[in-house]
Amino acid sequence: MPTPLPVTVGLQIMGSLRPRFQNIELGGWSSLFFEIRIAEALPEDLFPEPPKDATGYTDAQLEALLAPLPGCQLTIGILDAALDDGYYMRRLSGNRAVISTHEVAPLLIDRGYRIQNFIYRNVYQLVIGFLRFEGQLPSTTERKLAHTPTRGCVFDWNGNREDILNSLDSPTLCAACREHVRLTVVHHLLGRLMSELARIWKPVLMRAAGWIRNKVDKHPWLAIIVPVVGGLVLNLAASALYDWLKPAAAPPRPQGQHHAAGHVSSDGRTEADRTGLPRRRG
Ligand SMILES: [Zn+2]
Repeated sequence: MPTPLPVTVGLQIMGSLRPRFQNIELGGWSSLFFEIRIAEALPEDLFPEPPKDATGYTDAQLEALLAPLPGCQLTIGILDAALDDGYYMRRLSGNRAVISTHEVAPLLIDRGYRIQNFIYRNVYQLVIGFLRFEGQLPSTTERKLAHTPTRGCVFDWNGNREDILNSLDSPTLCAACREHVRLTVVHHLLGRLMSELARIWKPVLMRAAGWIRNKVDKHPWLAIIVPVVGGLVLNLAASALYDWLKPAAAPPRPQGQHHAAGHVSSDGRTEADRTGLPRRRG
């Protein structure tokens, strides 16, 4: 029986996130393919330490810590601690998975990416996997879903930590992964899926900064020309603003011109005195 859309995805913070990420909003993403439900975070004081002979939390520990969320087809835990063997995501049994922000968080902060980009990118991978296997997401030990080449695809393996950045700003599905989607119940919605992925953007300011950095990398002379031209433009703008704001000065009077009313003549009387016009006040 085809899996109805949207897939209900329960997100649960496991313990707590570092202070920088504590106020993240994860429920606002609109998708035709999944609906996010935020569960109450697991209490951090109940968390055991990882085994001493492991480099982080093991699958066995995660299986015990993350219970399926009621009413959710997929349960995804978000953990700000290391996973064993340096993974950032593990698929568990029973349509559960854990995403770790531990390794990538400093990279995201340093490069101006939002943590939501990382979470949504992984949620799409899990939801597509869930649909591809007709509602039975295979565990990481059962099946590898990602591919080794880095293509900016949500199924990139990302063996090097920095490679994850290729699929956090307008990620896509590569040709091979699109073929997988064409075999699922959402084959007719591939275009919609691609457009939703393209909406996972870096903040506009960070995109602009990246664009400028790329231009300067390609044309180093811009690093000199742009500040000089920018400084000139700012100077001109400041001068124009000053001229516009300063009080209007009285125009120079030509020699021999008739005195206007109110002007003091050589005998100490004003034109108004001679003509009998009333004196102006002020
Ligand atoms: Zn791919």
